[in-house]
This record gives sequence, C-alpha cells and structure tokens, in this order.
Amino acid sequence: GSQSLRGYASAAPTASFAGQKGSNGKYTVTLIPGDGIGPEISQSIKDIYTAASVPIEWEEVDVTPILKNGKTAIPDDAIASVRKNTVALKGPLATPIGKGHVSLNLTLRRTFNLFANVRPCVSIQGFKTPYDNVDTVLIRENTEGEYSGIEHEVIDGVVQSIKLITWDASERVARYAFHYAQSSGRKRVTAVHKANIMKMSDGMFLSACRQVAKDFPEISYDEDLLDRVCLQITQNPGPYADRVMVMPNLYGDILSDMCAGLIGGLGLTPSGNIGRDASIFEAVHGSAPDIAGKGLANPTALLLSSLMMLRHMNLNEYADRIEKAALGTIAEGKSITGDLGGKASTREYTNAIVKRL
Ligand code: NAD
Repeated sequence: GSQSLRGYASAAPTASFAGQKGSNGKYTVTLIPGDGIGPEISQSIKDIYTAASVPIEWEEVDVTPILKNGKTAIPDDAIASVRKNTVALKGPLATPIGKGHVSLNLTLRRTFNLFANVRPCVSIQGFKTPYDNVDTVLIRENTEGEYSGIEHEVIDGVVQSIKLITWDASERVARYAFHYAQSSGRKRVTAVHKANIMKMSDGMFLSACRQVAKDFPEISYDEDLLDRVCLQITQNPGPYADRVMVMPNLYGDILSDMCAGLIGGLGLTPSGNIGRDASIFEAVHGSAPDIAGKGLANPTALLLSSLMMLRHMNLNEYADRIEKAALGTIAEGKSITGDLGGKASTREYTNAIVKRL
C-alpha cells in the first residue's frame, strides 16, 4: 500500500550523486555481491530487475581485500567504480576476525564519507509480528559521535572514550532527514537525544536540528529522549508512524535494530548509506554463513534496499512496481522463504515475484 511506498523512499538532496546516466539511456550501478549468501541474493535482484526492464547496467566488482603497505584494503577498481557511478548496491561482507584487519564496511563508510544511515522500519503485511502498524524511518549520523574511535588510557584502570559531535556533521544529517521527510511525504522530524545528560554534545546536535527545521516550515519538528522513545515505541508504535527520526551515531545503531525487531527482523530490513559523492545501499543482515550456498536465503532485505536506491535515482515507477510484486508475494504467503515461515527456495520466491510484475 501507499504506507510502505513512503517507507522505502530515499531522497537525494543534490542531483549530482543520484546516478550517472549513460548515452544508452541506462544507469550504470556498482554491484558488490559480497560474501556468504551475498551472491545468491544478488542474483535474485538481477533476475527481478531484468524481468522488470529496469534501465540499469550492473558493474560487478570484487571487494576481496588486498594487502596494501602491510594493511588490508579494498581493491582500487572497486573504489573507482563506486566513485564513477555514485550509486552502489552491496551484499553483506564477512568481517575478518583478527588483528590488522579493518572492517570493509567501515572502510567504505570512511572512503565515501557516508554521513547518513537510513533505516526504514515498516510493518510488512502478511508477516505476523506483535504490531502491524510500525511505519517509521530512522536516520543515523554515521561518521562521528561515540564511534569516532578516539580512546585512550588516562592512568592504569581508567580509560576515556571521546564522543565527538560537530556542528557540520549534525547539520548535514539533520538537513538530509528533513529532505527525506519532504520527498517521502512524512510530516514530522523527531530528533532523538539525551541532552538532559549530555548537555553540550547532544545539545549542539539539537541546536543544529532546530536551525535546519526553520528551512522546512511545512514539516513539524520535535525532540524526544532516547529512553522514552524505546519505551513508547515498543508499547505502541502507532504515534511514531509518519515520522522520520534523526539521531547521533550510537543511538541510531541501537534504536534501528530495536525497530527492525518490531517488523520481524533481519531478512526484511533494508538500509541506505548516503554520502555527498556516493551512496551505498545494503541489507542490514550479514553474510549468514549458516545457510550460504543452500538456496535458502531471503533476498527481500537486499531487494528493498535496491528499491530505496531506485527512488534515490528517481526511478520511482520501477521501484513501485517491484515493491508491489514483492510485498504481494509475501502477503499471499505461498512462496516465501524459511525465515518467514515458508518452504520456498530463494529461486522459487524470486520467480513468484517475477510472475507478479
Ligand atoms: P547474519 O545477519 O549474517 O546472520 C544472523 C542469522 O540470521 C543467521 O541465522 C542467518 O542465517 C539469518 N539470516 C540473515 N540474513 C538472512 C537472510 N537474508 N535470509 C535468511 N536468513 C538470514 O549475522 P552474523 O551471523 O552475526 O554475521 C555473519 C557475518 O556477516 C559476520 O562476518 C559479520 O561480521 C558479517 N556482517 C556483515 C554486515 C554487512 O556487511 N553490512 C552486517 C552484519 C554482519
């Protein structure tokens, strides 16, 4: 329905990073299939896009880490491809465990300055969860806050972790949140904070949000405490429908997983990482090594992420059509994957979506 159409919207504040159209009228988009179930669910997206005649050509790149000056790094080709195309769809990447390995996800985030993490949480009709009226979008500041990585030992037994908040990053993510609300037809932006305790850092985040709010008089603006939001949204998500919530890094990390739980979990939760020069869309889940290669994975989260990407590129009509087919398949419940309580393989589910296009 129209509710979910708004849910998976994405707004591009500038046209420059919303995809590059080639002379053949098609957009080239970088595809990072990823590890584990990544290739299987990526194939499903490719098949659905071919069937829906989406004007996209995939440029598939490998991000298997290479050694560069003794450190693991993402191959230059992959970086160059994302930089050129400005839009990428990414499968899950297994994070290597052990010293000296950097998280590839973190590297991508830093390389392209992906400042806003967008997580729509919208109840999926036909998939039973405690509530059927969750309809909110979380926008998390993605570059600083508690995750700045500035930590040191003061004396033995005492460490400090610095929470870094800057006006520029706060203003930038707030502006994106208002743009998103505007372009997706949501009426309210709520800044989520703990400025009662962290008066200076969260206080400045709020000041930046308030200032940006003045530029969007048609969108209402309010502020709410993180703990209060957690309590209230789990008791009654209704009042949070129609909103965009924007918040510093750590709060967004935790609250977005909580909201993912409210709509039924990882197989259904898409996300977008928005940057000034490029944007990367990906499922929230990981590489699911326990089911990799078995044809059992649910491609919905990656598919919904790709629909955010299409809307980010102003290819809304294709996104609407594919979304209707996918949500219709889930609502019907005949050809759904195991994680949703069905018996269908990735392929059978994909074919069922294609039939509905
Ligand atoms: P996971 O999300 O891969 O799996 C958790 C559970 O959910 C598993 O039982 C898995 O089978 C199931 N699951 C996840 N996605 C599914 C899907 N699409 N369909 C059906 N079932 C699905 O989390 P994990 O096991 O903690 O992590 C595995 C690897 O993925 C780790 O290396 C981790 O670092 C990485 N990871 C990457 C990303 C990313 O690339 N953004 C995110 C999270 C985890």
